[in-house]
Amino acid sequence: MIQADSQKLASYVDALRPIIYINHFDFHAVDELIASVGKDMDRIEEYNEAGHYVDFKTKVSKTELTLAAFLATFDDIEPKKAFVVLKDVHGQLQNAEVVARLKSIAQKTMFNDQFYVTIFLVCSELVLPPEIEKMITVFDIPLPTQSEIEEIIKDYADGFQISLDDDTLNELVVSFKGLSDFEIRQILNLAYQKSGMITRDDKELILKEKEQIIKKSGILEILSFNSNMNDVGGLYNLKKYLRDKAQIFNNLGEARKFGIDLPKGILIVGMPGCGKSLTAKATASEFKAPLLRLDIGKLMGKYVGESENNLRKAIKTAEAVAPCVLWIDELEKAFAGVGGTGGGSDITTRLFGQFLTWLQEKESSVYVVATSNDISILPPEFLRKGRFDELFLVELPDPEERRKIFEIHLEKRGKLTNEVDVIQLLKDTDGYSGADIEAVVKETVEAAFISADRTVTTEKLLKTIKVAKSISETLKEKIDDLKKKYEKYDFKNANTAK
Ligand code: ATP
Repeated sequence: MIQADSQKLASYVDALRPIIYINHFDFHAVDELIASVGKDMDRIEEYNEAGHYVDFKTKVSKTELTLAAFLATFDDIEPKKAFVVLKDVHGQLQNAEVVARLKSIAQKTMFNDQFYVTIFLVCSELVLPPEIEKMITVFDIPLPTQSEIEEIIKDYADGFQISLDDDTLNELVVSFKGLSDFEIRQILNLAYQKSGMITRDDKELILKEKEQIIKKSGILEILSFNSNMNDVGGLYNLKKYLRDKAQIFNNLGEARKFGIDLPKGILIVGMPGCGKSLTAKATASEFKAPLLRLDIGKLMGKYVGESENNLRKAIKTAEAVAPCVLWIDELEKAFAGVGGTGGGSDITTRLFGQFLTWLQEKESSVYVVATSNDISILPPEFLRKGRFDELFLVELPDPEERRKIFEIHLEKRGKLTNEVDVIQLLKDTDGYSGADIEAVVKETVEAAFISADRTVTTEKLLKTIKVAKSISETLKEKIDDLKKKYEKYDFKNANTAK
């Protein structure tokens, strides 16, 4: 446990802060911290989330009782000195009897000089009952900094006489960022037990641990994906850009030493069904990082400040699991109308400001990929330099790109054979999106399956194309409108290096 935390906590105890709230999930690490502060304490008593009074050291249950009854045993005026540790009881902080007991014990600690009972609320969620809010001190355990992580790894390696070169050490330091001291040591243990060494490949173990953290947070979604850049047809310029960025992202330690700024992220705007989401997924695979999706709509809460709190939590979680790719889909739906004359509510405007500030000041290796169809309803602040590294426009695929997209989807289904001449399909598919092309291939393959000869040929594909309707036909007005809107902006072209 980091010495500084222990000293800070001890100073709160010495200052007779009666209730100390430690909002943390790593109970083992918190126990170590409390034990280090309470070295001279005769009594450290613990009550756990299962309703048991347990031995603080061994965790063996002494008895089962309600929280109010447990607290009552400390709430008489007999002189006493004790630490009372309550684990994950946040669900009971609305119970009037519990709150009254906490208040009464806290008052005695503050005003009776024979009575020193410090209550530690150790909970994975922060709940502050208004009746006792002023008596509670919230204690944050900061996560280890880069140099502290380096110390932890070196210390571990020395202990087992493992030699580590500077590059591996640097890579591991960046990957471990966001994990607690305890978690880092646990992963190092796992890695060492597996191979007797610690190598760059242990980043996989780190990734798994981080996935657990996201699942627990509940606000972000972690996506499993199996697409990579080879599944994206066309978009050559965008793919090249992302492949170059991946070289930096995958060697962040070295890049950092070389003086390169952390990549922030990109905004991809463009036609529906043309590979924006696919590219977001492929980015995560290229960056060898987990893909998290943030649905801004889901952040909206009923209570005052709840939405801002949710966004803060989402950002904190993403930063904890960084390096990662954070995908924000349909950006225009989240922030439509902000700052405009109608539509955008106060909450959306506040969220937008909070999000922009984070984007601008971001120091973590969270790479943001935001995607959108229509940015004309987005506030212009999004497009200013310094927010995203680059803004890309995805247009409907040109003939060369359509050829590649046909090949990808035929190949995927094992149907890219001599029977198919993809070049012949291009003339009749002008105005088709990638999703349209995929649909043509799917339908033709399905029809071939129930036909007598079970083959997919150029003729059969052309037949499907004849009856199929492209997005340019079904959504003609919308597509024409979008084309006009895109012309007004100075985007980089994703398709070719125009
Ligand atoms: P929207 O704006 O409607 O969300 P999008 O641009 O994000 O659309 P995707 O979800 O990436 O579109 O595309 C839908 C599907 O169409 C993909 O899963 C993929 O199968 C196919 N597709 C689209 N574009 C391409 C492409 N360039 N290469 C290969 N497949 C593509």
